[in-house]
Formats: sequence, C-alpha cells, structure tokens
Amino acid sequence: MSGIREEGGPAGLRAPRVPEGARRHRITGSLIYGFLHCEHSVHLAFFGDPDRRLPLSEEEKWLRERGRRHEARVVASLKGVAEPEYPARDFEAGAIATRKLLAEGRPFVSQGVLLREPFLGIPDLLRRVEGESRLGSFHYEVGDIKSSYAARSGQAMQVVFYSRLLAEIQGRTPERGFLILREGEEESVPIRELDSVLEEILEEMDRWLLAPSGSRPHRDYACAGCEWRAVCGSRADLYWIPGLTRAEREVFAELGYEEAEALCWADPRRLGRRGRLPESTWARARHHALALREGRPVPTHPPRVEDLVGELRFAVVLEDAFDRRFPFFAIARPGGESFEGFEAPDPGSEVAALEALCRASGDRGPLVHGGELPRVLYSFAVRHPSLAPLVRRLEGRWVDLMSLVRGAYAFPEPVRHPGRALALFGPGSGGEGAWDPDGDSVALRLKEGDSKGLRALARRRLETLEALVSVLRAHPGRRKTAAAEKAGRAAAERRLEAGA
Ligand code: SF4
Repeated sequence: MSGIREEGGPAGLRAPRVPEGARRHRITGSLIYGFLHCEHSVHLAFFGDPDRRLPLSEEEKWLRERGRRHEARVVASLKGVAEPEYPARDFEAGAIATRKLLAEGRPFVSQGVLLREPFLGIPDLLRRVEGESRLGSFHYEVGDIKSSYAARSGQAMQVVFYSRLLAEIQGRTPERGFLILREGEEESVPIRELDSVLEEILEEMDRWLLAPSGSRPHRDYACAGCEWRAVCGSRADLYWIPGLTRAEREVFAELGYEEAEALCWADPRRLGRRGRLPESTWARARHHALALREGRPVPTHPPRVEDLVGELRFAVVLEDAFDRRFPFFAIARPGGESFEGFEAPDPGSEVAALEALCRASGDRGPLVHGGELPRVLYSFAVRHPSLAPLVRRLEGRWVDLMSLVRGAYAFPEPVRHPGRALALFGPGSGGEGAWDPDGDSVALRLKEGDSKGLRALARRRLETLEALVSVLRAHPGRRKTAAAEKAGRAAAERRLEAGA
C-alpha cells in the first residue's frame, strides 16, 4: 500500500490506497458502480474469498444473456465499429491495440481498453466526434449500453470515470458521455459537472478500504440478488437492522449493544427511560434482532385486518421486467374459487388481458395484491388512456398485502416478494419448502414459451396471497384489532348496501 496518495495521480485522479493482502489492485468501472450500490461489495471485491460467492441462478444467467444480446444488437446497428484484439486478460496489450484504433480515427471503438494503473476501464463504446485533440481534428467520447429503461447514477459515474481515462490518451476531456438505454434512446452525461462526484467517490472508497474495522454488511433489497449474500449473511450484524441511522447505531454500540444478538435481551421500556433513544427505537431494533436470530418473522404490531373485510378477491400480474412484458393476469376468490386467467401471448394482447382482469374484478370488496397491481394498472392507463375509467373503478379497492404483512412483522431480511415472505413463516404457513427464485421465474417460463407454466405460476401466487391473509388473521396481536375489524365489517356492509 502506498502511504500517501498522489495529488495529481493517474488520469489526474487520486487513486484509493489498497491495503496489503488485497486480492486485486485495480480500480475498475464496475467497482465504481458497485460502490454506489453497496460499499461493502467493494470491500469484498478486494478481500473476500471468491470461492464463497454464490453461483448465478438460471434466471440471473438468462438476464445477463439478454443484456449481452441487447448490447450486441445496438453495436451491430452502428456503422464503422472496430474492436481491439488482444490475448484474453492482457489489458496492457488491449490498451495498446485501443490507442492504435483511436489514432486511426475509427468511427466507433467497441470494448476499448483504457488503462492507467491502477485504473482500468472497458467502456462499451468510444465514439468519434469533431474537435481538435492530440489524435487530430477529432476526439472521442465515451458511451455505455444499458438494459435499463432509465439511467442510474452508477451508470453515469462509470462513464465519467472512463472519460477521465480517455482524456489522458487524447489530451482532451470530452464535454459529454452518453448512455444508450433499453429502448434505444440516448441519455447525455455531462462530464465536467460530475467530475467532482467521481473524486468524492474515490475519496470515500479510500476511507472504506483503510477503515481499521473494515466495512460491514448492511441488509437491503440489493442483497437478495448479490453473489456475496452467503458471506454477508453468516453473522447477524447490527447493520442489518433496517431503518437505524448512523447516530442510533453509535448509541447502541456505546451502550454495549454492538451485536444484533445482544439486542434480543434488551428491555425497551427501561432503556427508553434513560433518554438516549426512545422506547420505540429500542423495541423496533429488538424485534428485528429477534427475527434475525430466529430466522423467521416476529410479530410487531396488530395487522390492519380491517382492510381485509368483505368479499375478497386476489389478483396477480405476472411480469418480466427486462422486456416489460406482462404475459399473464389472474384473479380468484378465496379457496381458488372462480379462478380466471388471462394470457397475453404477445405484447399486442396485453391491453385486452388487462381489461379482462379489470372487468373480472367486480365492483365491490377488497382487491388483494402482492404490491404490483397499482403500478402496472397506472402504467397501462398512461399508455392507453381508454383504460383509465376501468382503473379508476378499482382505485380505493386494492389492498397491498405486502405492506400489511411488513407492517405487522419484523422480517429477518428485506422482503418484497409474497412467496419469499410466506416461505420465511415456515412450516404450517403454506410456505413450506425452499424459496426458489427460478421456480418462480416469469422470465424463464416466457423464454420456454411455457403457457401452462405461467398459468400454474399465477395460481401459485394467488394461493400465496391467500395463505398470507391467513397468516395475518392468525397474528397474535389480532385480538387487539377486533374492534377495528368490527368497524371494518360494518363499513363493508354499508358499502355493499350502497352498491346494491
Ligand atoms: S450481500 Fe448485501 S451487504 Fe453484502 S455485498 Fe451484497 S449487497 Fe452488499
């Protein structure tokens, strides 16, 4: 490790210092992206045991494959694209081959290697534009091809990082970079405006890498798809408790509650009286600590079961987010009664399938869903205004079951998916058996053209919603909500009478 960081280091950037014993020394564009996603993933990239990374699931492999195909399609649509040739992983040779292509003034260079130790960048595209530079009467700007429908800050920062490396080669910082998004639109990245942010990121990375206690894993939704989740999940950390501020964690640590386990024995009332943190913060932290220790949800508050009074219907929309495809819509009453499934085998039939779902929803009683319904309905209504009156008719009836479940229980991990939530309740809940994201993958079924599988998946998701309603009804705090439930029932009856 070099002790002092160079002021005007490589590419004019101050390189983060990498402590002895790290498995790697290079700072890459994906590391910058990863750092904005989760600082701890950068720590693990330097110090983690690569053999402990989890393999990709079939769904993740398919996602990556589709990303590569999308990128190849975009590159194939461009004229005059050259790619540097060099032996695999010989980035010095790759950098020399890239410089040659740039000096020749090729219109586009794909997968060019920009190397200025310890920085390494391989952007998807370098595009020739007018304007003097060391290369001649032209220079290049950097672009990345993304599968997302909207630009993310991490993607923009990768482009800024690559632009700084490119600036050293061509003797000129490009004014802008670009991101080519999923639907082919180009998003401009202003390099100079974001330059100082890149420097701050490198500063922060330096601090994290040198921190004496190392970095610690947190827990958020990103962890569910992260290859390091087995490593991070091996010890229940205080950082896993959601919603705690840094100051609150410091108070816990000062009072001897360094580990989540210790919080399981805390007495929220007594500790709240001490005045450092309110009783509610202690109680919330303790509930989550217990959930972490038990590996299952812990009841926190009486559930709002009054939202589930009346003639229930369950609704699901199967979605493949990569292609924004909605191949199946389904609705059922409790017990799987009156199951109705509406398949949309191609994008052109989605509106009709959604319309059919809306009509099958009836005009009274709660419409229970797993969190996706309003978003999907509104996005369709924006694109197809003729759907707006149907969607409006459902407003006020939909009930986000996951929001009720999360409000009533502390979970040992962030849960978004009803299937995962149910699996965590374990035996007796209806969620027995391992949660299998591939088994629940809409993308894989669509890929295989498995229409029966989509129908079966929709049924299973409807059953999951129903099982979660039973879990809420069996909540130990439900007694306290009897009055609220009675009020809810009276309100539902009044609604029924009014609708009759
Ligand atoms: S599992 Fe979570 S905390 Fe660990 S590296 Fe991945 S995203 Fe970060």
